[in-house]
Amino acid sequence: MPLNVKNRRKRGVRIAVTVLSGLLPVLLGFAILYMQAERTLQQSTRLTAEEAVSQFELMFDNTAEAARELLPLAGQRCNDVKLALREQVTRRPFVRSTNLVWDDSIYCSSLFGDYQEKINAGDYTQGQLSLMKSNKVTPDSALLVYRLSEGQRGALSALDGYHLSNVLRLIGRSTLLALQVGPHWLAADGQFHDGALPLFAVAQNELASSRYAFTVAAGFPEGETWRYMKSEYPPLFSLLIFFGVVSGTIGHVLQRRAMSPSHEMQRAMEAGEFIPFFQPVVHGDSKQWSGCEVLMRWNHPKEGLVRPDLFIPFAEYSGLIVPMTRSLMQQTAALLAPLSSSFREPFHIGINITASHCKNLDLIEDCRAFIQAFAPGSISLVLELTERELIEPTAMTHQLFEQLHELGVMIAIDDFGTGHSSLGYLRQFNVDFLKIDQSFVAMIGVDALSRHILDSIIELSAKLDLGIVAEGVETTEQSDYLTAHGVNFLQGYLFGRPMPGPEFINALSHH
Ligand code: C2E
Ligand code: CA
Ligand code: CA
Repeated sequence: MPLNVKNRRKRGVRIAVTVLSGLLPVLLGFAILYMQAERTLQQSTRLTAEEAVSQFELMFDNTAEAARELLPLAGQRCNDVKLALREQVTRRPFVRSTNLVWDDSIYCSSLFGDYQEKINAGDYTQGQLSLMKSNKVTPDSALLVYRLSEGQRGALSALDGYHLSNVLRLIGRSTLLALQVGPHWLAADGQFHDGALPLFAVAQNELASSRYAFTVAAGFPEGETWRYMKSEYPPLFSLLIFFGVVSGTIGHVLQRRAMSPSHEMQRAMEAGEFIPFFQPVVHGDSKQWSGCEVLMRWNHPKEGLVRPDLFIPFAEYSGLIVPMTRSLMQQTAALLAPLSSSFREPFHIGINITASHCKNLDLIEDCRAFIQAFAPGSISLVLELTERELIEPTAMTHQLFEQLHELGVMIAIDDFGTGHSSLGYLRQFNVDFLKIDQSFVAMIGVDALSRHILDSIIELSAKLDLGIVAEGVETTEQSDYLTAHGVNFLQGYLFGRPMPGPEFINALSHH
């Protein structure tokens, strides 16, 4: 049955869709936050590298100034100029030692005075800067030497590696920083290294100075992006989870709506799955087919033919019964109208309606269109309204039934005997037929009390001059009893089961 088949697989899919619709915004938001964190860290390392470069440039300016002042003295006797060399060391905060060079040989040093050591200009990147692991005076500490030369003259000023690593440490703080000069680099811990700069795992940024021959690398260790997100984004995470829950709930609700009976019926109606079946109604005495009742079937693509009592309550509840009945009437007219000319007497066509049809006057137009599809006077349309669900007598319903009667539409009270309509009620709505409920017919020859009620109904209808139809006639005994008691019309399996249109048309030609 299509309205409550909920197999496990469908349920699994529904749960998966709900979980996905909840997870998707969370994962997407998470990815966006991750990218945002990476961008922030990139910006941070770029700024740090820029700051380190400008700090080093300031220090190198100071060191270069000392060399510039000493260069004119190169060539003079060391004894005459060694005080000038020492003065630079004393005056300048970053200068540790100074030397004078002649023909690529140091001949005078601020520390030793007269001194001899060959230098190799190739050791200086762009002839200007050299990062050294140590020298004779400080074998455990790196140093950076600035070289200035002009012809045979040269001046060197050295900067202690301690100052350099201090800058790397202080500016870097949470960022990893390294300084590269030529083939060597210095880490924040003051360690001297050979080779290319290290590659940091996160947000690596390298920046070369435009003024001196050095490069600074900045970055973060592995896992920094997560650490950053954990410390900066907790409120956003809560928001993401909130969105996830909202989105999951919406996904769940939308699915439930899509799975709801009324949604499924709407789909079925658009697909034309509700079709008419026809059950003959015969004359009491001649047993000639004098009409039919139109009974709805749901031709479900997976479940096959579905009985109306399984889906009509949902159709009524959702209000879809009105367009469904309209479609049923249109299909019936299309099938039976071509036979109009063969009907000798007006052919009764019974259509079941519900209280929902009586809320406005739309039914009038549906009935008018139905009648107009047939040759004039060839049919009589009977609207069957069940006694179990009688409508309120209001100005609107009176107007509706009056106009229906003007159109020539007849009213039958269905399942008569199971509800409690009064005589007044039958008169108010100008009822034309009573349809005796099949439960009374089934009791013929079985239950004396039911037979008594049946007899009373037949009597009543005769007094009120109402036509009478007995439903659910299955045996000749029932048929004979009803005919003997003057029941005008009979309906039941004895004469024909509800059948599809083409089969009914075919059978009709034989009756
Ligand atoms: P109903 O209007 O009382 O229709 C008569 C029901 O009795 C039909 O069941 C019919 O197949 C069944 N029936 C006819 N002869 C016999 C018989 O000899 N023995 C037995 N045991 N049953 C017989 P069906 O077609 O399953 O329809 C059930 C109910 O669904 C209908 O009862 C009616 O209330 C409702 N229904 C059917 N089509 C429509 C429709 O288009 N609109 C509305 N609103 N309700 C409909
Ligand atoms: Ca009926
Ligand atoms: Ca009935």
